[in-house]
Formats: sequence, C-alpha cells, structure tokens
Amino acid sequence: MLTSRHLLGIEGLSKQEITAILDLSETYVRQNRQPNKHSNALNGLTQVNMFFEASTRTQSSFEIAGKRLGADVMNMAMQASSITKGETLIDTAMTLNAMHPDLLVVRHPHSGAVALLAEKVNCAVLNAGDGQHEHPTQALLDALTIRRAKGRLHRLTIAICGDIAHSRVARSNMFLLGKMENRVRLIGPRTLMPAGVDQLGVEVTDNMVEGLKGVDVVMMLRLQKERMDGGFIPSTREYYHRWGLDAAKLANAKPDAIVMHPGPMNRGVEIDGVLADDINRSVIQEQVEMGVAVRMAVMDLLARGLRRQEKDVMV
Ligand code: ASP
Repeated sequence: MLTSRHLLGIEGLSKQEITAILDLSETYVRQNRQPNKHSNALNGLTQVNMFFEASTRTQSSFEIAGKRLGADVMNMAMQASSITKGETLIDTAMTLNAMHPDLLVVRHPHSGAVALLAEKVNCAVLNAGDGQHEHPTQALLDALTIRRAKGRLHRLTIAICGDIAHSRVARSNMFLLGKMENRVRLIGPRTLMPAGVDQLGVEVTDNMVEGLKGVDVVMMLRLQKERMDGGFIPSTREYYHRWGLDAAKLANAKPDAIVMHPGPMNRGVEIDGVLADDINRSVIQEQVEMGVAVRMAVMDLLARGLRRQEKDVMV
C-alpha cells in the first residue's frame, strides 16, 4: 500500500514502498508476457493522460498499462487543447476534475507544476516527468531492470553519465538508488553537473575512464538541449569523444556491467549505436518492457488507495 494519494516523486517514497512497487511489478511482467494481457485492477476507473511535453515511451506505456488493467483511458491532445487559447494549467485541471477522473497522468516542462496541480484535484496524480525535477516511474523501471539483471538492488556501484544538471531521470535515480543503499557515481562535464552536487552524497568525476572503473551499471543520459540556454559543451563531436559510451570506455567497468539509457537516445553522441544494440550488454529494450509493468503496479496500488478512502468515507 502507498501512503500518499499521488506519485509525485521518489523523494517521498520509503524503501518499503519502493520494494512493494517492484514486487507487484513482477506479477505484471508475467501477465504482459501472456497472450491474454488483461486483468481488472482499474475496472470502472477513468485515467486521463495530460502530456504538455513530447513523449514516446512514457505516454504509450501509461496508455497500454491503463488499458491492460481495464481503465477507460483518455489521452488529452494538449497541442489542441484550450491551453493554446490561454487557459491556465490549473483551470484545465479543474475542468477535467469536474468530469471525475480517477487517475491523472501529467508531464509538464516546469519543475513543481505536477505537485501544484495535485493540490487542486480530487483524484490520484502521477508525475510523468516535471521539468528537471523528477520522473519517478522512470527510476522505478530502471530499478526493476537493475534488480532483474543483477539479482539485487543494494550494494551496487552505479555510474550515471552525461547531462546530470538537466535530467529529472538522474535526480529520481539518485534518490532511489541512495535509499536502497547503492554507491552512485556521477560522470560528466563540470558544466553539466547540478549546483550543490558535492552535497548530494555521491561521487563526482569528469573522467569517464576513471569513473567507470569497477561499476556494475552504466546509466547513460541524453543531452537535454531543450533545457540548455547556452553553450554547455564544446561540440557534440568533442562530447562523444570524452563522454560518449563506446566499447573501449565500457571495458573499464566490471565485465558483466549492464548499459542503460532512458531514451530517446542520440546514437553517436551519448552512446555508440552498436553498443546500444548489443543484447549482451545493453538492457535498453528491457527498460521499455519494465516500464509498462511498473506503471501497472503503481496505478494498481494508487487505485487500492482510492478505494480504501472511498470505503472510509462511507462508514
Ligand atoms: N525520456 C526521459 C525524460 O522524459 C529522458 C529524456 O528525455 O532524455 O526525462
């Protein structure tokens, strides 16, 4: 059971809650591999997906997850909504709220926007990525992928590489991996490290060869150009040369280290294309598969919470 009505970030989850989500996700991994992928945890519930920022994996994953659990799923086409006529985020949310959705899945370019919205509605709100703040279901699917590949989710050394400063994926992963007692090493140019990085309780280096030594997991990140307002890197060629992952740099990690990327990836910028497709090292496709299962588990648990609240009101 989750203590909060919403899933706004990993920061607010306990170690026990994270483990409960991952354990339930395993059930859904099995269900998703069956010819019949349907069950009924969300029967009768309405799920609305509001994506104010581009998405391929996350939006389709939430849609498939909801449908497999029996919810009525609606994708709001935000480019065609009244936001373009000047309606505020809150007014749009209040309008939708009046239609009694049960689960609202929201992605927004501004950090904190999803939490603000959650204060105004009666349903459960799921953060599908807010600015550079958090992307909780990404960290959960990464955790499930790691746990399955390594057989555990503690006492591992995990390198998170690249554009840390602009990455909500990195932030959510740092919270989660820290809570589960792993060693996290951030590798990237100094210009792409967040302010106050030295207070985060993680190791930091700008040297890929040094940083990758002995790691169990290499997590690559995309260069988030849409969040950059100046020259953070000399050129993409230079960036690839120093921080792009290829077989030679990976040779510094443990021989069984796995390679991850949340997508979308820029081949030849953050990662060598051949390595990204190497099924002996790369778990990028598994990450996508785990994404559906984790989102099913989270929505199932939030729906249980909603039903429990309803019962409490009735008695
Ligand atoms: N898809 C991830 C996100 O929405 C990572 C990325 O865009 O680079 O944060």
